[in-house]
Amino acid sequence: MNKVLTHLTILRPFQEPVYIENGWIRIIDSRVAAFGKMPVRLDDDELEINMGNKLVLPGMINAHTHLYSALALGMPAPGQAPQNFVQILEKIWWKLDRALDTETTLASFQAGLLACLRAGVTTIFDHHSSPNFTKGSLKMLAGVAHDFGLKVSTAFEGTDRNGPECFKAGLDENLSALADYKNDPQIHPMLGLHASFTLSDESLETVRRSLDDHPGAGIHIHLAEAIADHHDSGERGYQSVVQRLSEYDLIHSNSLYAHGIHITPDDADMLFNAGANLVHNPTSNANNRVGMLNGVTLEMLGFGLGTDGMQANLLSEAKEGMLIRSSKLTTGQANVDYLKLLFHNNPQIASRLFGYPMNRIEPGAPADLAFYDYKSRTELNATNWGGHLLFGLGAPVDVMTDGEFRIRNGAVQGLDENEILDNARTASARLWDAMEKLR
Ligand SMILES: [Zn+2]
Repeated sequence: MNKVLTHLTILRPFQEPVYIENGWIRIIDSRVAAFGKMPVRLDDDELEINMGNKLVLPGMINAHTHLYSALALGMPAPGQAPQNFVQILEKIWWKLDRALDTETTLASFQAGLLACLRAGVTTIFDHHSSPNFTKGSLKMLAGVAHDFGLKVSTAFEGTDRNGPECFKAGLDENLSALADYKNDPQIHPMLGLHASFTLSDESLETVRRSLDDHPGAGIHIHLAEAIADHHDSGERGYQSVVQRLSEYDLIHSNSLYAHGIHITPDDADMLFNAGANLVHNPTSNANNRVGMLNGVTLEMLGFGLGTDGMQANLLSEAKEGMLIRSSKLTTGQANVDYLKLLFHNNPQIASRLFGYPMNRIEPGAPADLAFYDYKSRTELNATNWGGHLLFGLGAPVDVMTDGEFRIRNGAVQGLDENEILDNARTASARLWDAMEKLR
């Protein structure tokens, strides 16, 4: 049955009109058909749902994350503190991913996507790694995404660091997903690669050849996140990571590049000309102390916003990104508009890659919406909504995807949230034990 959601405060960041008080949204066949200001005339076959003056935003996008790290929350720190970025990977994340098995991977996907849903994040670009459970892992993720009603881009982090068989298995898993989900509007498969510095020239050549069989497919890779990645390309005889990837035809508009902190001005030009999609992950960059992305480059390349596994809440990421940058600026210097990354650049990137308009409240886009019970202590209007989004809003009380409520009045629909969380707690204890046993 078609629905009309009424009595809504509609917020459409970076679109016009941006703010509609006492509004309505008509949903036909899982998509937004129209919206406007009350009153609205209902057709006989339409169901009116009175939303009680809640504030509605488009469902948000996490443009780069790692659901596999969902069970790292509260995990014991390594015995010896890492001394640089590569040691952070070796002592923490490369142990965690090797310790993942079928069950702990499933628990990570479920708990990670539950946190996204609870934060009103309905589209997730995931970068997965579980080298001891490779075959079937992306199919498992797609299955959980279907169960949760979320849109997910899949990618398995191809790398040479676990030997040639693991590289081959990761590549095969990516290629299977590219074939299996080619026509699935909910899943966007990408060819995942960890990072240039853990891939040989031979492996990059293999990737280039593999993509020939999948026209339109793109890669999802960490790009010049730390200076070590840049130096590695230099040692291999390339001017930069971007130059190296471009030698293998791996810089293009279908691909997603996370971080891009240590790129050169020439690299930025090349990425711009290729129409490449870049993603900024400010809290992760601050946490790993890898440097801060240049603000001019960020504006020029239209970076999206991701959390790199640090958190599920993109409004928090936007606020913290702004504050991290502020701490390095002097009074009077302009900051980056982090809400633009989240509500303008992310939907552009996602729409380009999934191939249809999404994560906007506009006719034709899927009805992916987050509703907040927001009783503001000051006036909210068409000009000051940014401050309310960054400093006022809590968690959504209702979340809808494809026109169906996935959370209604605070309760997750059609899934046993307690069971998912109980299972994740048990799995996390097992995962942390397994990590202890790895040298
Ligand atoms: Zn990452």
